[in-house]
Amino acid sequence: MRNPFDKSKILLIYTGGTIGMKMDPKTQALCPFDFSQILQEVPELRKFSTRIDSYTFDPLIDSSDVEPAMWVELAELIKARYSDYDGFIVLHGTDTMAYSASVLSFMLDHLHKPVIFTGSQLPIGSPRTDGKENLVSAVEIAAAKDMHGNAMVPEVSIFFNSQLLRGNRSTKVNSSAFDAFRSPNFPTLADAGISIHYRDMVIHHPSHLERSFQIHTKLDTRVAILKIHPGITAQVARDVLLGEDIRAVIIETYGSGNAISKPWFTDIVKEAADSGKILLNVTQCLAGEVNMDIYATGKALKDAGVISGYDMTTEAALGKLFFLLGEYPDNEKVKSLLERNLKGEISK
Ligand code: ASP
Repeated sequence: MRNPFDKSKILLIYTGGTIGMKMDPKTQALCPFDFSQILQEVPELRKFSTRIDSYTFDPLIDSSDVEPAMWVELAELIKARYSDYDGFIVLHGTDTMAYSASVLSFMLDHLHKPVIFTGSQLPIGSPRTDGKENLVSAVEIAAAKDMHGNAMVPEVSIFFNSQLLRGNRSTKVNSSAFDAFRSPNFPTLADAGISIHYRDMVIHHPSHLERSFQIHTKLDTRVAILKIHPGITAQVARDVLLGEDIRAVIIETYGSGNAISKPWFTDIVKEAADSGKILLNVTQCLAGEVNMDIYATGKALKDAGVISGYDMTTEAALGKLFFLLGEYPDNEKVKSLLERNLKGEISK
């Protein structure tokens, strides 16, 4: 048990990503480099009274190579070090950061401490890097406590370009600008300007009655994503919706949850639903929600047995399904939990 008057301790977990990459002179491609060099690049970190320890993943990866096994390793690491630190920062590539933050929000249960994902668009060694600001502000937020000594933001979040976003509400929206992430259906948790402004009204604080921290590491990845588009063929719809070893399909629909209303499509959807598969409707739109009662094209999906994902991102839907399918062998139980707000991922 830590003494609350000790100075804050943060564990900086380095998984890879652009923030720690350097140009390989031979191939001219960016590759991950040793973590000790990151701290050399950010002497500002020494100005904090916070103690920063680090842990480096082996191998370091470009986050496009992230796999569920790495999420399990991350959850187990946080669990093993939970009582030793006040907060955790995960340095992660931006490409799949929203997926990792989303799934971790379900895997880490009864969280009382911050777990902040951050990274950068330019390597930390490059003169115009956004990595320094992201890392330094993430450290300040991870160490921040209220007047009772409780963490200011005890959530899984993403800090990027001056904004702290709920992890399971976030999505990468820009591949080249520093302003790369948004949580279009949820306000920022904090904004870093001259000072850091915390939006206490929207930050989730665990109640004192809440059980102690635990992790869930059983993930079932038998999930497919079907993006609806004009010209989609019955063969493609069939292959995905009726895929053999698939328990759930996320259907990315148009607008407020609409898809093709032609019988060939609704018949396939119905066949999949009747076979017991979980079909979850999320919108392709960046913001807004699924409401299958507005148009006949949405109603047809609802009648066929498709569940609404409301205003969930695809990343959150995927993470929630991996977690729920891992926990519950019964698809009906998973369906009922999908419609519930478990970790602030839907506005319900
Ligand atoms: N490809 C990199 C990654 O996701 C991109 C980044 O970090 O910005 O690891």
